[in-house]
Amino acid sequence: MNHSQKTQKHIIIVGAGPGGLTSAMLLGARGFKVTLLEKNGRVGGRNAAIIRNGYKFDTGPTFLMMKFILDEVFEEAGRQSADYLQFVKLEPMYRLQFEDMAFEPTTDHAAMLKQLNEKFPGNAEGYWHFLETEQERFRRMYPCLQKDYGSLKSYLSMDLLKAVPHLSLGKSVMDVLGGYFKPDRLKLCFTFQAKYLGMSAWNCPGLFAILPFVEHGYGIYHTQGGLSEISEAMAKICREYGVDIRLNSPVKQLFLDGRDVRGVELESGEKILGDETVLNADFGYAMNHLVPPGVLKKYSPPKVDQREFSCSTFMLYLGLDKIYDLPHHTIFFSQDYRKNIEDVFEHKVLSEDCSFYVRNASVTDPNLAPPGHSAVYVLVPVPNKTAAIDWTKEKNGFRDRLIEAMETRGGMKDLRSHIREEIVLSPDDWHSQNIHFGATFNLAHKLSQMLYFRPRNKFEELGNCYLVGGGTHPGSGLPTIYESGRIAANLISRAHGVPFLSRNTQV
Ligand SMILES: Cc1cc2nc3c(=O)[nH]c(=O)nc-3n(C[C@H](O)[C@H](O)[C@H](O)COP(=O)(O)OP(=O)(O)OC[C@H]3O[C@@H](n4cnc5c(N)ncnc54)[C@H](O)[C@@H]3O)c2cc1C
Repeated sequence: MNHSQKTQKHIIIVGAGPGGLTSAMLLGARGFKVTLLEKNGRVGGRNAAIIRNGYKFDTGPTFLMMKFILDEVFEEAGRQSADYLQFVKLEPMYRLQFEDMAFEPTTDHAAMLKQLNEKFPGNAEGYWHFLETEQERFRRMYPCLQKDYGSLKSYLSMDLLKAVPHLSLGKSVMDVLGGYFKPDRLKLCFTFQAKYLGMSAWNCPGLFAILPFVEHGYGIYHTQGGLSEISEAMAKICREYGVDIRLNSPVKQLFLDGRDVRGVELESGEKILGDETVLNADFGYAMNHLVPPGVLKKYSPPKVDQREFSCSTFMLYLGLDKIYDLPHHTIFFSQDYRKNIEDVFEHKVLSEDCSFYVRNASVTDPNLAPPGHSAVYVLVPVPNKTAAIDWTKEKNGFRDRLIEAMETRGGMKDLRSHIREEIVLSPDDWHSQNIHFGATFNLAHKLSQMLYFRPRNKFEELGNCYLVGGGTHPGSGLPTIYESGRIAANLISRAHGVPFLSRNTQV
């Protein structure tokens, strides 16, 4: 008798973002009855596609790192990722464009050394030191990210105790990289990754030096058709296992019995009962809107609002009638990068001179635009909605300045005359998509909001309730979000005595 005949426990999942989809896929594969409720008309959340008149954009994620974690969750669901997705490893990984020079990091160590010797002579040794030391830190840290931290005992585990000397306590990512490299620009090439967490490299905990390491150690991938294809592939597997994916089904509120979750009430008034409920909706939004008022203590709305959140992003999605000669990923650094970072994170104002990221995936992938056209994605880190910025006034002017910067600093000559489609998102737009404070990368990743101190995957405030997604442990970013979905699925399986294959990630 398989599990589905034996128990048919019903799991409700709120939100079909990468976290919810991972849990749904694993629980579906293990024979649970799963209902996945998504407010939008498409799966993926911030990892969904935006399709407009033949142009296809990824809403959010464009860098797939640590592909092996994605492979693992597919395998645990009885599937091979390569049967569903066409991966392209990007080499070089990206271009880092400064005012007067460019640097193109690659995982090809010989090519990397050649470039270092040309552009930053005398730093080859620092590079080897970086690779060796950060690999060891990563090896020590990763098992800590895979734990559920359901108890203080699990927090004080041997894995974490062994990792303590590798935490670089009291140091920022910038401090740590300063130990390997002296030139400021070279340090920027290995620290800008703090922005992946929506943080400043001068404040981001030093242990996140593992981020540049995972890039240099394992590479960065694109999936043909865009990274949204990953969410689509997960949804396909869910359906193969009988998961009921209900699109256009916004959840209004959790349905409680005391402090135990019994199910959910949809905006339509329909009530759905389940044995366990998994919340993938943005953490800050969920605490503010999905839990009936007066129930939460540790994460009551005022307490959640006092926490530190990531920055937001200003986005341009442009359908162009030409393909510019720009790499797949380019990061354009502002002249005074530090000031730009301080404006975003400390002064919470808009910089005159911004750093920005351009993704020109049509040079790799013909599936995103008609022949000869391109789908260009531009991201600018900006303060989240805790800042006193009136985006109704700023949005158009900011967009115009950005187009100007792309034409001049970005080398995209005559850009405005090639725009056929355009979508602009400001922090207000993110906020209206149920993303609290428009903080696109969720709760900040400072040490007091990580591991045991980050919202746990088995929610400590409510019974029969689990949390997944970037605002929960282990954190924002696709691989860690997949981990949150896997941890929750494993906890639920264990609670119901359902055996599962548990991979022991080797890094
Ligand atoms: C601009 C941007 C760039 C990023 N770039 C990268 C990158 O390059 N690499 C990387 O690894 N990560 C990146 N990330 C971070 C992260 O990987 C993504 O944000 C990821 O999609 C977050 O997944 P999630 O599971 O936390 O939730 P989400 O993707 O936010 O999904 C939550 C889902 O819940 C749904 N929902 C909300 N409220 C309700 C409700 N009431 N009822 C029903 N459903 C509801 C939403 O519609 C959504 O589908 C980026 C994020 C952004 C925003």
